[in-house]
Amino acid sequence: MNCPIENRNSAMLVAHAAGELDPLAARVLEQHLAGCEACRSVAAEQIAMWKALDAWEAPPVSPDFDRRLYRRIGEGAPLSWWERLARPFRAIPLRQALPLTATAGLLLMAGLLLQHPGSYAPAPAPHSQAVRADQVESTLDDLDLLRQFGTANSAESVHNDAM
Ligand SMILES: [Zn+2]
Repeated sequence: MNCPIENRNSAMLVAHAAGELDPLAARVLEQHLAGCEACRSVAAEQIAMWKALDAWEAPPVSPDFDRRLYRRIGEGAPLSWWERLARPFRAIPLRQALPLTATAGLLLMAGLLLQHPGSYAPAPAPHSQAVRADQVESTLDDLDLLRQFGTANSAESVHNDAM
């Protein structure tokens, strides 16, 4: 087989350590490992990491974890890095997240239209160019709205957390 490291295919070594390779592929890889020191050392590191993860037990979450977290936010206490990381996800209520999803879909459509205009409009009439320009313009408007939403949301979330 080709050396996974030389072919920048270390995902195969990761899959092997995780026990996700089918038996045949695992046997072929093990034959390669016997003769390739570089792969053998990466595989050994991966296996050691998986063993460490298996041995690690997450500490139990205390029942009043949420209450204490919200109180700290309300007090304006400095947040740890993971609390700051989690904030943006809590701060977006579902009713605001849904239009975002729709906008993302619109942006994707606009991107596809711009990339492959031919496949969506086989015989582009002169006016279809104008339609696409409109769509781009409305997409730019949406982007602007998104940016404003981002700014408003970060200001608003401070207010929400205080309640
Ligand atoms: Zn190798």
